[in-house]
Amino acid sequence: MTIKVITFDLDNTLWDVEPALLRAEDAQRVWLLEHRPGTIEQYDHQALWEFKKSVWKRFPHFVHNVSAMRHQMLLELQMAAGYEEEKAHEGAKRAFAEFLAERHRVELYEEALGVLETLAKQYSLGALTNGNADIYKTDAGEYFDFAFLAEEFGASKPAPDMFHAAMATANVAADEIIHVGDNPEHDIQGAREVGMFTVWMNSQGEQWPGGGRADQEIDNLLDLPDAIAAIASRQ
Ligand SMILES: [Mg+2]
Repeated sequence: MTIKVITFDLDNTLWDVEPALLRAEDAQRVWLLEHRPGTIEQYDHQALWEFKKSVWKRFPHFVHNVSAMRHQMLLELQMAAGYEEEKAHEGAKRAFAEFLAERHRVELYEEALGVLETLAKQYSLGALTNGNADIYKTDAGEYFDFAFLAEEFGASKPAPDMFHAAMATANVAADEIIHVGDNPEHDIQGAREVGMFTVWMNSQGEQWPGGGRADQEIDNLLDLPDAIAAIASRQ
């Protein structure tokens, strides 16, 4: 067996997600303030988070569909402010579109493009995300052979669904894939459990929380080719 495929988590693996999320929340708020006055004025960041959690409790399956979750929250916010359902649905769609446009304007880690370009010459590359980022809307899109969102499967990592889909799509066995991600549970535990090799992207210098460790650990994508080579040489 040789390594044929590298799959990547996206948020906090290929880019910092926080700045894009903050801009996205802002864009959503601006749209609501202008087009659905009275909807969001009384909510600060914390209050909005509490509102979101209350929706979550009533729609627990939306934990695997962050887009549906946001639509429902936006819908309920407007209806609570007195907007009719149809208008609230339309508003939810449009406010979400504003959110998503900014959500997709992520800034790849400086070294990401060069590393991905190099790896793409030797391996098939795939993206597996629990969020709603679209790798094909970034400059790295051209290097990716496939990309899956948890919401397409109704199951988030560490569930095996997306990992299995990667194996089926690339037509390879689990031990021909290395999965790279920042989340010890979603990425490392999930990929290990289906039999893939793993690289923990630990850019923040976190302590390993326990459980089976990744095969390799890096704090910068520049070290990824060496980490992959180290795994491949053991096979
Ligand atoms: Mg991540």
